[in-house]
Amino acid sequence: MRCLVTGVAGFVGSHLAERLLEDGHEVCGVDAFIDYYDRAIKEKNLEGPRSWNSFTFVEGNLIHLPLERLVEGVDWVFHQAAQAGVRASWGEEFARYTECNVLATQRLLETALRVGGVKRLVYASSSSVYGDAQTFPILEESQLRPFSPYGVTKLAAENLCTLYHHNFQVPTVSLRYFTVYGPRQRPDMAFHKFCKAILNHEPIRIYDDGYQTRDFTYISDVVEANIRAATSEAAIGQVMNIAGGSRVTLRSVIDILEEVSCSSVKVAFEAKQHGDVRHTFADTQRAQQCLNYSPLISLKEGLAEEFDYARSIYRLVQTA
Ligand code: NAD
Repeated sequence: MRCLVTGVAGFVGSHLAERLLEDGHEVCGVDAFIDYYDRAIKEKNLEGPRSWNSFTFVEGNLIHLPLERLVEGVDWVFHQAAQAGVRASWGEEFARYTECNVLATQRLLETALRVGGVKRLVYASSSSVYGDAQTFPILEESQLRPFSPYGVTKLAAENLCTLYHHNFQVPTVSLRYFTVYGPRQRPDMAFHKFCKAILNHEPIRIYDDGYQTRDFTYISDVVEANIRAATSEAAIGQVMNIAGGSRVTLRSVIDILEEVSCSSVKVAFEAKQHGDVRHTFADTQRAQQCLNYSPLISLKEGLAEEFDYARSIYRLVQTA
């Protein structure tokens, strides 16, 4: 298949591109290297995909690029590009969130419609569309009330995908990821910061009391869900939760990290941040039915992989 992966230099996009290439597909990746985090990290993310002859890379912003050329002849579009991050989405930054998340998605959908021939457009949605849910597990039909400006833009883009499917039969699927982790996780995300703090012998900073819970999802499970969303007929037009299958407190994450890093960890508690929700925990039955999806990687296995990766990159930095 010929695939277009947007946001290919990011955490999820780079893993997904690698898997598609390993499976024998042709991949064109696009990324604007937006400066939310260091370009050098994204260049490193691209090392794997760039080692394949069947990979091409286009640097540019989905808001300005002539998208027809990118979409023509493409079978599967995996739309991972976004301005991510809940806490940074307040204030003046919101303009970037609306551009990268809403406008860029609308341009891509419009192009897919005009060009035709796209067999699947998989959109990376988010658990943030639910906001501060009160009943668990969270079903796709649960109330959608984002708790951050970021969540508002992810929901708007998801609604656009559904609209283009209902009105024009663009074959979209939206996957609502629940906190993704693993090697190459974004540097603003909790596990990345936790691993870095341990390696630097600094205290781990936790916002709030540490009893908040998350349904953490390992990167290879998210990648698998994307591939299945592209291949399953039952997925077309659907919106579904993609989660790791268990709900843990941040305090228990620290216990596991102590085990995998073989070190004792100091924790500093800080005030809850605006936009952070208290709990997430997904019902994944729809993904099970439509995609035969079930998460395979346990939190302990996944955290060990992420810690090893952190050790490899931060050791490099220290010896450089
Ligand atoms: P990331 O920031 O690592 O990757 C996103 C990439 O998209 C970046 O490299 C960025 O430069 C690129 N990009 C952004 N706007 C662009 C534009 N207009 N044109 C071209 N490139 C652009 O983020 P990630 O963690 O890999 O997240 C991937 C997707 O998954 C995002 O859509 C995000 O909203 C969604 N998501 C992620 C998580 C998670 O836990 N990581 C959870 C829920 C949803």
